[in-house]
Amino acid sequence: MINLRDLTIKELKGFCEEIGEKPFRAKQIFSWIYKGAESFDEMTDLSKALREKLKEHAYIGKLDIIRVQHSKTDGTRKYLLGLEDGNMIESVFMKYKYGNSICVSSQAGCRMGCKFCASGLDGLKRDLTPGEIAGQILTIEKDTGEKINHIVVMGTGEPFDNYANLKKFLINVNDKEGLNLSMRNITVSTCGLIPRIQDFSKEMKQVNLAISLHSADSETRESMMPVNRSYPVDDLLAACREYTEETGRRITFEYALVKGKTDTKEQIDLLASKLKGMLCHVNLIPLNEVKETGLAGSNRKRAAEIAAYLETRGIPATVRRELGADIDAACGQLRLGEQEKNK
Ligand code: SAH
Repeated sequence: MINLRDLTIKELKGFCEEIGEKPFRAKQIFSWIYKGAESFDEMTDLSKALREKLKEHAYIGKLDIIRVQHSKTDGTRKYLLGLEDGNMIESVFMKYKYGNSICVSSQAGCRMGCKFCASGLDGLKRDLTPGEIAGQILTIEKDTGEKINHIVVMGTGEPFDNYANLKKFLINVNDKEGLNLSMRNITVSTCGLIPRIQDFSKEMKQVNLAISLHSADSETRESMMPVNRSYPVDDLLAACREYTEETGRRITFEYALVKGKTDTKEQIDLLASKLKGMLCHVNLIPLNEVKETGLAGSNRKRAAEIAAYLETRGIPATVRRELGADIDAACGQLRLGEQEKNK
């Protein structure tokens, strides 16, 4: 049995042909799926016979809402969602002045092992399928009754460690018959897998790219991010420059401020000198506390000072708004709670 949420429209055409149907049916079925249909019987413009045939060969893989936590302060909602095989993932729904945004997970768990991040504490369980990534949006749109305007792939997982599925997901949400979301309203964040950054600059030019940099000094970065061993920061920054030249698009650097470690004058000066002249923007995130890590975040005053200083060095910088902190939904805090882990 095949989960039709996992297919692109092109693949769905192939599937229709395989079961002896006209390929134009693919468009109809695809558009139902992205309207949120969760059963073939909802597809009322398909004949009963076709719906029965679809049921024999395929299904629409849904995600179960296991729990929703509502922030009391800012309207953020954190969803714990169940996959078919019992694995669980988290997604965050956020309201901004300019529209609704969702932070989706790309893997169940993560194998990058960043020291400050809660999502990787238990390692990687598995990659999410394209339909499971998109399913987070479909499920949350249905639950909130609201349209989602922006997607950030910044939940649990390393999207470039699940590149093929990420690409299909992006194609499907962008498709006119899908969610019809502009690629410019989507941001993918990576810890810096250089070969995939190169692929992305050629294949997904319109999508915004964010890089989790966190330090411009190789030794400091490596003490927090094992990925720096395979892809050292200077090589990463060279790839980022190439990316901006290839795409003409501004790159975002996420920079977590760790008190006494990445927020010092020396560290910020090094950052400014290495980013000089690059088409980029720095998004400062005072590190969110995760008990196990023992690392502390800078306060927002220090963050604002650093942003102002970077501006004087010619580098556009902002401090990320912190949403959902009261429900542990802020950056780097996504993980399954103790209860779920022990079930
Ligand atoms: N794997 C991808 C996307 C997921 S993480 C990546 O590394 O970019 C989303 C962002 O949250 C990354 O920039 C990550 O480094 C950051 N992050 C992780 N833990 C954090 C924490 N405790 N406080 C602040 N930001 C954190």
